[in-house]
Amino acid sequence: MNQVVDQPTEKVNLLDFDRQGLRDFFAQLGEKPYRAEQVMKWIYHHLEDNFENMTDVGKTLRAKLEASCYIGPPKTVFDKAAADGTHKWLLGMDGGNAIEAVYIPEPTRGTLCVSSQVGCGLNCQFCSTATQGFNRNLSTAEIIGQMWVAAKYLGNITHQNRRITNVVMMGMGEPLLNFDNVVKAMSLMRDDLGFGLASKRVTLSTAGLVPMIDKLSETIDVSLAVSLHAANDELRTELVPLNKRYPIAELMASCNRWLARKPRTSITFEYTLMKGINDQPEHARQLIKLMRRMPNCKVNLIPFNPFPGTRFERSDATVIRDFQTQLLNAGVLTMLRRTRGDDIDAACGQLKGQVLDRTRRQAEFRKRLDEGVIHAV
Ligand code: SAH
Repeated sequence: MNQVVDQPTEKVNLLDFDRQGLRDFFAQLGEKPYRAEQVMKWIYHHLEDNFENMTDVGKTLRAKLEASCYIGPPKTVFDKAAADGTHKWLLGMDGGNAIEAVYIPEPTRGTLCVSSQVGCGLNCQFCSTATQGFNRNLSTAEIIGQMWVAAKYLGNITHQNRRITNVVMMGMGEPLLNFDNVVKAMSLMRDDLGFGLASKRVTLSTAGLVPMIDKLSETIDVSLAVSLHAANDELRTELVPLNKRYPIAELMASCNRWLARKPRTSITFEYTLMKGINDQPEHARQLIKLMRRMPNCKVNLIPFNPFPGTRFERSDATVIRDFQTQLLNAGVLTMLRRTRGDDIDAACGQLKGQVLDRTRRQAEFRKRLDEGVIHAV
């Protein structure tokens, strides 16, 4: 599915605007705001990227739009289906960069996992994206464009045939480090004239950028997931270096502020289980203690997904079950995330894309692989 149409740069990509932005842009063109909303419906409900087909938009306006803007979703470099129905898209960005989006179908819902950056700067030790370093933030168009491409492919029809019922900002990157573009894209996911998803169905996942969690709760109504992975600071700092800057107590305080502002919501804490690292009964006890102060919150256990060069291993199935049982017995609502799409490297922590690294991380990682210091699995 190659749709390579390079647009002249001076034209404006309408996927970069949320509803207000689109209204303002139409005002600049000397058009009424409701025209913007008409076009928005074509873009997100009918997944139309050709002004000519927007039959209820007058000919003159169509010509004006043609001359000044375009609807430019990212280009699909390739897409691939896994045996379990999971679907992955590699989407081309500028200059050889590429990011990934993944669709995970389940009996009662379909979840799209969306990327927010080309690579990631956080360097979490157990995540494949970290080995690639960082290039740049994605634009609003590149974020919402992932959903547009997937929706078009899947035959998603908002309000009728919803193939994408949930979105998680859990692909490549730290979404809170690309705040403005991520918020605009999520507002298009939520907007009735956009993809029309309820706040419970749009989830932002963060490694714990405390001030931005506060800002998010004041800016948009979406759900929050926090990547915890350890309930003591020493271990968490080792796994998630950002913990040094925002340790667990500060992170939990910001989560409590979130819950105070949104009393009827809950926060999901993600916990990737790694053999002998964070999967022992004492780790479960620490997590239980932490969760006691977070009533109504959920823990989502993720069996570690391996990638070339990682020093970690997935916990044994019995250990995972025991860990979950220990939490459940203590009254902590605990789900186990089933591993999906791992035969196409589309599982959590396996997304790679192509990152033209601006840090030295990718080169260093490759060197260690070549030298045999670390091993391909
Ligand atoms: N930066 C954000 C979003 C991307 S990560 C965040 O940290 O939340 C999405 C989820 O996948 C996180 O919970 C992350 O910790 C988890 N993950 C990363 N690497 C993994 C791996 N190798 N196996 C399983 N889960 C992993």
